[in-house]
Amino acid sequence: MNLPTVRLYNTLTRRKEELRPLEDGVVRIYSCGPTVYRYAHVGNLRTFMFPDLLRRSLEYLGYHTEQVMNVTDVGHLTDDTFERGEDKMLVTARLENKSTEEIAAAYTDAFLDDIRKINIRPAARYPRATEYIPRMIELIGQLVAQGNAYVADGNVYFDISTFPSYGKLSRNTVDKLMAGHREAPDPRKRHPADFTLWKGAGEHRAQVWDSPWGPGFPGWHIECSAMSMSIFGDRFDIHTGGADNVFPHHESEIAQSESIAGHPVVSIWMHGGMLMLAGSRMAKSAGNFFRITELEDQGFDPLAFRYLALQAKYRTQLNFSTDGLAGADRALRQLRERVAEWSSEQGAVSEEWDGRFRASLADDLDLPAAMALVAELSRSNVAPADKAATLLAWDRVLGLDLERGGRPHELPVGAAELLAQRERARAAKDFATADALRDRLKAMGVSVADPRVSD
Ligand SMILES: [Zn+2]
Repeated sequence: MNLPTVRLYNTLTRRKEELRPLEDGVVRIYSCGPTVYRYAHVGNLRTFMFPDLLRRSLEYLGYHTEQVMNVTDVGHLTDDTFERGEDKMLVTARLENKSTEEIAAAYTDAFLDDIRKINIRPAARYPRATEYIPRMIELIGQLVAQGNAYVADGNVYFDISTFPSYGKLSRNTVDKLMAGHREAPDPRKRHPADFTLWKGAGEHRAQVWDSPWGPGFPGWHIECSAMSMSIFGDRFDIHTGGADNVFPHHESEIAQSESIAGHPVVSIWMHGGMLMLAGSRMAKSAGNFFRITELEDQGFDPLAFRYLALQAKYRTQLNFSTDGLAGADRALRQLRERVAEWSSEQGAVSEEWDGRFRASLADDLDLPAAMALVAELSRSNVAPADKAATLLAWDRVLGLDLERGGRPHELPVGAAELLAQRERARAAKDFATADALRDRLKAMGVSVADPRVSD
């Protein structure tokens, strides 16, 4: 098959590498997915938008993709250290007076609604962690039998000394890992950085399974080794996640999966950059987050968030602000209006411009460069109908609903309030304020035509 060369940045090697799918023309992607005992915020959604852009780009270039995204419906173990002993699934279930299954189902539905709002296409499969517990127990048993793991007091730990390249993904050395442990190490661990594969159940646990080591529940990292290898086998093309998954989650997944398979399992590791709000990472625990529905309630088009995210390289941090979002919202509406105007006649996709667009995608998903092309094409002297045809073709990747057309009767966010203020200023004959408000409205793309006043 004669497909274009695609280069992708591999976190493991710290460079762009040529994508060479194991099966000709088919790219298999495993993506770390949502935890379903709480709502996703837009920072999470940016992380999930990145593999969507990866799939859309590869498909635009002629590849087939198969994406699997896990759903973490085991609440205990997002954190390997269990500091506060919290069972998050159980805490949420108690707060909402529901069973853990009901909680997982409700938040999974909310997640699917949220991704639909920003045109993230669903994965081919969403395996749930609770469906793969026997497989996890089997893999842990194999690691114990091979000497990669040891049992202590009903817990099973991975012995990182048996996997000398532990740290290769995150560039953590054993010294650094030691230095990072300020608290007293767990005396049951041979090395402070050994991580948990199976945790014996204490009190107040909702989800407990029997195992050869006693009742308990699996570690978070073994979840992804079990699901990815159960579905794709012991080699697949791309593994994605957020930059916050590099360590310990993916580092540990590599140690587990490679110890079991005896060879590298993932060809390319890719990570999406974090969304920052006022200088810190958007996080539920920090209390600084927005849901996409909250932004929608404020009057923003949810796809304005997608437009905003497209402006930044997927693997860099992106600063989020409502001003930035308002700018993206205006730009998106204007772009749709133009496409609607230009679409009055039948056009053809410009091959020259499309070639440049494809080259941007093939260069490690350079969507900011692709968006610059959108602006450049819009300003160019290409025939309007061809501009529209080209932009609508590109929208298969961008996912901005450019065919939706302008909605001239719908005002941008905040415009109604400014119009009302301006009416009051005019009524009070405060023309300086009225003029200033007209300029602000104009900057938002709203032009105001006053009736002529005759004295
Ligand atoms: Zn994972």
